Amino acid sequence: MSDAHKKFVSLMNKVLDEEATKEEQRLLDAHIADCSSCRVHFHELRQSADLLNRLVHPQAPLNFTKNVLDKLPADNRHAVRNWVSRHPLYAAMAICALPMSLMMIAARRQTVYRDKNGNGQFILLKMPENRS
Ligand SMILES: [Zn+2]
Repeated sequence: MSDAHKKFVSLMNKVLDEEATKEEQRLLDAHIADCSSCRVHFHELRQSADLLNRLVHPQAPLNFTKNVLDKLPADNRHAVRNWVSRHPLYAAMAICALPMSLMMIAARRQTVYRDKNGNGQFILLKMPENRS
């Protein structure tokens, strides 16, 4: 390829990168209409660019997401909900476990306070604000 054609190669890349102005695009179109070697080269560049774009952005087949979801076992999709409906007693116990343990911790703190006083005759219903 002679120097006269080499300046069109950078123009081809600009056109393929969609960075060419309309005037540059027209200049290239006019040249490749007359010049067979540049026309072939531009065709090859365009094919390479198309191939590269397809590699960089692979096309997922139609309904890809739906097909994958359909192949998943049904039980795994709503595992927690299914477990709760099969074991309602355990679910209720798990839900009650947190407030129950908080109540037990609070009861333990009240007992410790009562024993520290040494009389053991009164049950505290509320912790005093000032312990001194
Ligand atoms: Zn040319």
